[in-house]
Amino acid sequence: MKLPEKFATEMEGLFARHPEIAREGFYESFDLEGRRGVRFSCSKTAPDVRPSLLKDLSEQLSPVPWCSCGYYISPDMSNRNPYYHAGVYYPQEPSAMLPAEVIAVKPGETVLDMCAAPGGKACRMGEDLHGSGLLVANEISFERSKALLRNIERSGIPNVVILNENPDNIARELPGFFDKILIDAPCSGEGMFRRDPRACRSYEEYGPAQIAPVQKSILDAADICLKDGGEIVYSTCTFCEDEDEGQIAAFMASHPGYEVICHPEIKGVTHNAEGSLLPGSMRIWPHISGGDGHFCVHLRKSGERRITKLSFVPSYKVPASARRGADLAREFLLSDILSEDGIRSLPDVPFTCHGSGLFLIEFDEKLFEHLKTVKTGLYIGDFKAVSNKTVFSPSNSLALWLSRRMIREDSYIALDYGDDRVIRYLKGETITAEDCRAKKNGSVVIGVKDYPLGFGKISGQTIKNLYPKAWRIM
Ligand code: SAM
Repeated sequence: MKLPEKFATEMEGLFARHPEIAREGFYESFDLEGRRGVRFSCSKTAPDVRPSLLKDLSEQLSPVPWCSCGYYISPDMSNRNPYYHAGVYYPQEPSAMLPAEVIAVKPGETVLDMCAAPGGKACRMGEDLHGSGLLVANEISFERSKALLRNIERSGIPNVVILNENPDNIARELPGFFDKILIDAPCSGEGMFRRDPRACRSYEEYGPAQIAPVQKSILDAADICLKDGGEIVYSTCTFCEDEDEGQIAAFMASHPGYEVICHPEIKGVTHNAEGSLLPGSMRIWPHISGGDGHFCVHLRKSGERRITKLSFVPSYKVPASARRGADLAREFLLSDILSEDGIRSLPDVPFTCHGSGLFLIEFDEKLFEHLKTVKTGLYIGDFKAVSNKTVFSPSNSLALWLSRRMIREDSYIALDYGDDRVIRYLKGETITAEDCRAKKNGSVVIGVKDYPLGFGKISGQTIKNLYPKAWRIM
C-alpha cells in the first residue's frame, strides 16, 4: 500500500536511532491482512469453558500470548453470532488487548477509562471488577459514546458510569479519586494504516504534531484524577516516538514521582531496554508479532494508596409512582426470575429512578452531578402508568447482567448454539418452548446455552418475544 511520505521519513529516523529493532519486513507488513481476535468476557466465561465455545464457533484454540482471555480467529468468522449478542466475547484486534491486561484491574478498585469508545478495553476492565468497585468510562464524542453504551450493556457490567466529557472537567470534579486510569489516547493511528485506508487520509490532517498536545493535556488531567500510589496505563496505536516514549518521558519530567512498572517478557511484545528513551515501555510490531502496531506503558505514582469506600447515598427524592415501579421491579425479580443464589446476589439498595427508568446504583451518584452522564449504574427497566395501574418492563441490560446461576431453573430457556430458535429470538420472532422444562406462565429468560440473551413471556408453549426492537438482528 502507498504510505504517507511523512510517515516513511519518520520511521527511517526511528529505525536509525534504534538499530535493535528489526526494520526488515516492516513496510511489507502493511500489505498483509491484519489478524483478528476475540476476547472472552472474564465475568461471563470461566477459562475452562472457552475451548468448547471456540469449537461452537468453528474456531481453533490459538491464544493471544499477551492476553489471558484473548484468541486469534479466522478471517471469515462472523462477528455477529449468538455468543456475541450474549456478551460472551468482544471482537478485538489482538494488539489492542494488551493495555487492559497490563493494568490488571482488581475487584473494589475505582477505575477511569479516559478515552473509552467503542469500549473493548473498558469492558475488560469492568469485567475484572466482578461487580465490586466502580468503572467510569468516558468518551468525549457523543456519537461514539452510543457505541460505548451498547457494548457496556452487552457485557452486563453493573457498576459503571458512562460520561461524555472533556478530561479537564473530570479532573475538576474528581481529583485524586481513581486507583487506576487507562488512557488509550487518540493518536496519529500509524498502526492502523493497513486495517483502515481512512487512517492514512486522517494522518495527513491529524498527524503527530496536531495530536501530541491533545495527548499531553489528557495526561495532565489524568494526573489530577489519580490517587497517590495509583497507576496509569497509557497506550496508542502509533509508532511515533513523540506520541509514545517521548510523550511519557516529558510527562514524567514535568510530574516527578512517577515510575515505569516493568513487566516480565511476553512472547510477541517488544520491551524497550535499559538505555532506551523509556525503559520498560512496550511495543507490538506488526512485522514481528502479526498484530497491528501498539505502544503501551504502565506508570505508578508515588505515595501510599488509600482505599475509597463507595456506598449508596440516596440523592434524589423518589416520587410515589417511581416507588411503586421500583417495588414492581423487585417483585418481578424475586418472584418470577431469581434463584436462591440470585436473591442473595441482588444488592440490598433501593432502585433509583431517573424519569421513567429504574437503575441499580450502589455508589453516591452525586459525585457525577456536574458531569455529562450517558448512563449511571445498571439499567433495570422502565415503569409507566397504564389505566391507573403502574406496570414494569424489564430492560435487556438486566437480562445480560444475570448469570445462569442467578436464574430459577423453570424461568430459564436454554437453547443450543445451533438451535434456529436462537436466531429467530434475536430477530424478534415468537418462538416455542415445546422441549423445555420451563414453567407454563410468566416471565422467562431466553439464553444460548448458559448465556442469557433477553426476556420473554411464556404462555403454554409459546414465548412472546421481549427482545427490544433496537437490539434485533436483521
Ligand atoms: N479505548 C477505546 C477502545 O478500546 O475501544 C479506543 C479509544 S480510541 C483509540 C481514542 C478515543 O479518544 C476516541 O474514541 C476519541 O473520540 C477520543 N478522544 C479524542 N479526543 C479526545 C480528547 N481530547 N480527550 C479525550 N478523548 C479524546
